[in-house]
Amino acid sequence: MRMDIVTIFPDMFKSPFAESIVKRALEKGLVELNIVDLRRYTHDKHRQVDDAPYGGGPGMVMKPEPFFEAVEDLKNPSLKTVVVLLSPAGEVFNQRMARSFLAYEQIIILCGRYEGVDERVHQHLADKIVSIGDYVLTGGELPAMVLTDALIRLIPGVITADSTAEESFAEGLLEYPHYTRPASYRGMDVPAVLLSGDHKRIAAWRKEQALKRTLKYRPDLLEDNGSGVLD
Ligand code: SAM
Repeated sequence: MRMDIVTIFPDMFKSPFAESIVKRALEKGLVELNIVDLRRYTHDKHRQVDDAPYGGGPGMVMKPEPFFEAVEDLKNPSLKTVVVLLSPAGEVFNQRMARSFLAYEQIIILCGRYEGVDERVHQHLADKIVSIGDYVLTGGELPAMVLTDALIRLIPGVITADSTAEESFAEGLLEYPHYTRPASYRGMDVPAVLLSGDHKRIAAWRKEQALKRTLKYRPDLLEDNGSGVLD
């Protein structure tokens, strides 16, 4: 899979992808990550990407032309591509959406800044508008990292299939609780069933715990199967 992230702050992406699982996926060539400076697609001497809003009001708005030119340049016509614009106005990102992006061979992610991006980019360039939650960040770079991280770990071969099949949201529930050594710490004991070696009982206990945790922390997941959590 090829991912292109279009931003005015390409340096922000240096460290998050230079460690651990994402780093290994890049090294193995399971994903090709292309961080693109939006200013490459400006033509004036100040490399301007923003301008004052029509109609007045605070702040600056990101101009449409650099985004359109960037997408035209980056889109590989032989790949199945989706153009994602990050915006608080978008559909809220979740695990189902992350999985749905696996159907594409190229994802172009557009990061906004300032007051946001010219509406024509929303209406005529983006295939999908995505928010990472109901709050406002200063830019689309952190959301782009969230999307990229969530997606890369789902790419076959990046981590073991068992890990992504059993984790939270994979089956509409939160994952069961985990414990490791020591078996007893400051009077807090690991549930005896996990020490029993009885795999059937352990599996049944984990199923029950997943349900209990979901009821306790995220009852909405059980109420609304259309929430985008179930696969
Ligand atoms: N004026 C906009 C509004 O009220 O909706 C907020 C613009 S925000 C300060 C600047 C940029 O950050 C947005 O264009 C978007 O790319 C990004 N951004 C901020 N919050 C986001 C969120 N929750 N999800 C995705 N992108 C977000």
